[in-house]
Amino acid sequence: ARAREAEQRSQPATTRDGHRVDIAANVNLPDQVSLALSQGAEGVGLMRTEFLFLERGSTPSEDEQYETYLAMARALDERPLIVRALDIGGDKQVAHLELPHEDNPFLGVRGARLLLRRADLLEPQLRALYRAAKAGAQLSIMFPMITSVPEIVSLRETCARIRTELDAPEVPLGIMIEVPAAAIQADALARHADFFSVGTNDLTQYALAIDRQNPELAGEADSLHPAVLRLIRMTVEGAERHGRWVGVCGGLAGDAYGAALLTGLGVHELSMTPRDIPAVKARLRGTELTALRALAQRALDCETAAQVRALDGADA
Ligand code: PEP
Ligand code: MG
Repeated sequence: ARAREAEQRSQPATTRDGHRVDIAANVNLPDQVSLALSQGAEGVGLMRTEFLFLERGSTPSEDEQYETYLAMARALDERPLIVRALDIGGDKQVAHLELPHEDNPFLGVRGARLLLRRADLLEPQLRALYRAAKAGAQLSIMFPMITSVPEIVSLRETCARIRTELDAPEVPLGIMIEVPAAAIQADALARHADFFSVGTNDLTQYALAIDRQNPELAGEADSLHPAVLRLIRMTVEGAERHGRWVGVCGGLAGDAYGAALLTGLGVHELSMTPRDIPAVKARLRGTELTALRALAQRALDCETAAQVRALDGADA
């Protein structure tokens, strides 16, 4: 039975009508890769690099970052690796960076906004990533909290300059879609990004105006809210117009029903906590893409998250 279970985990998430969804893990450190692979991960869809900064009292040097990114890629042995550039601010504060106090940190200088103001953080990280790519790491770089076209255009320019300086290979450059403005303007952003990954944790927070950490409102901060699903659908449509692929690395991807709905909405890759992988794979293998598309359409037409939840199983 053990062997059968392990074999099931290593099988792809292919629906009964032959549609394969890429399944990746959210992993932050190289020593967590083997556990993720044993759960059935096919790559890493989100490496949150802020952990390199959070779990220590000082900023890691370019060399230390380079070693970590290279070790991560080596542990994955040519499987895909998406490294997210530093996403500090909001709920992720780093004492030793001594960032100014903000009354509304979730609406403040976080993610890409911080990177664009702090070349001393952005450039060593990009150099470390391009050096790792030059040393053979198969990786993609992803930028968090993108809200507008000029942000990604500017970040791409910095990447191009650093790549030229290092004579490094090209690396796919993607963005997180986690602000409603980005989802609504996905078609414009898709001209400038090689791929999208939807952060449903922040997208839900910003769409519903609910602090993702407020326990009083936790029940209402529901990623199955039809408004959130519509934003994800807009993201997929915008991406399709320019031939880009869309993943999801927020919590909804690791929920078996959420994964089914996301697949029906046209998402190609799901990245999640490693322990969620077996159930998500099993859910997708037991259904058909045509049924999931119909399910997703019904969900988009729902009035409430509760109605969306009540549709669970309608694709069976
Ligand atoms: C998200 O916002 O959904 C996401 C994946 O990023 P984080 O949880 O790190 O903010
Ligand atoms: Mg986020």
